[in-house]
Amino acid sequence: MNAKILETENVTVSFDGFKALNQLNFSMDVGELRVVIGPNGAGKTTFLDVITGKVQPTIGRVLFKGKNLRSLPEHQIARRGIGRKFQTPRVYLNLTPRENLEITSNRNKNVFSTLFSRSHPKEKHSFEGLLATIGLTAKADIPAALLSHGEKQRLEIGMLVGQSPDLLLVDEPVAGLTDEETYNIGELLLTLAQSHSILVIEHDMEFVRQIAKKVTVLHEGSVLCEGDFAEVQNDPRVIEVYLGQQQE
Ligand code: ADP
Ligand code: MG
Repeated sequence: MNAKILETENVTVSFDGFKALNQLNFSMDVGELRVVIGPNGAGKTTFLDVITGKVQPTIGRVLFKGKNLRSLPEHQIARRGIGRKFQTPRVYLNLTPRENLEITSNRNKNVFSTLFSRSHPKEKHSFEGLLATIGLTAKADIPAALLSHGEKQRLEIGMLVGQSPDLLLVDEPVAGLTDEETYNIGELLLTLAQSHSILVIEHDMEFVRQIAKKVTVLHEGSVLCEGDFAEVQNDPRVIEVYLGQQQE
């Protein structure tokens, strides 16, 4: 049996009696790239919130690398190795991509040495590698304000990776991107998936087709079904919940 990076056991999150998550059982293996889809209101964002500790389960538990995250504050969960990419890029616009990576990487988690030490040659090398991975070598030294929206997204993914998380949570990374930028983000996530466990939430079905190995469909706070892209796409229950949404 593969080791699990993440499991939820019967997780229910109630907001004044409304169950945003309803007895959610989910698990993914170490090293897996998983895509979670579902109509609006299915509970996708709440699912990420309950993993990162922003929201506590009303019932049930969340296990990261086999350990219960119950009652841990968000920053401690992050320190245990869960990194979250929010939908809108949060990069420092007046700094270059290289500087953005330097100030956010946790080479030794000491703010003062980050501010005052000269970078070690080996670290320089690793930033070059990261800049190449995110496709920003040629733009490494211009202000991030001059990057396109897609490039900013890639930079922020790079900043997340620089913190060496064991699990990356990525919320709707291609919303508002051009087809070409969407494709680039997909290729980047596929590259990162060779060395990370990644959980991606996404709406864009072309993008899901590009990156997905296994897809989980959420509906009304529970898992509706799971499978590869073709299985999920052809599942009558999935078609029904998506069509139901379009008719509203
Ligand atoms: P998704 O990301 O799949 O669109 P969400 O997780 O954002 O869905 O929301 C799931 C449901 O829970 C929605 O009906 C939403 O209105 C409700 N919900 C989310 N957060 C709260 C909250 N803080 N208080 C009350 N209801 C909430
Ligand atoms: Mg959402």
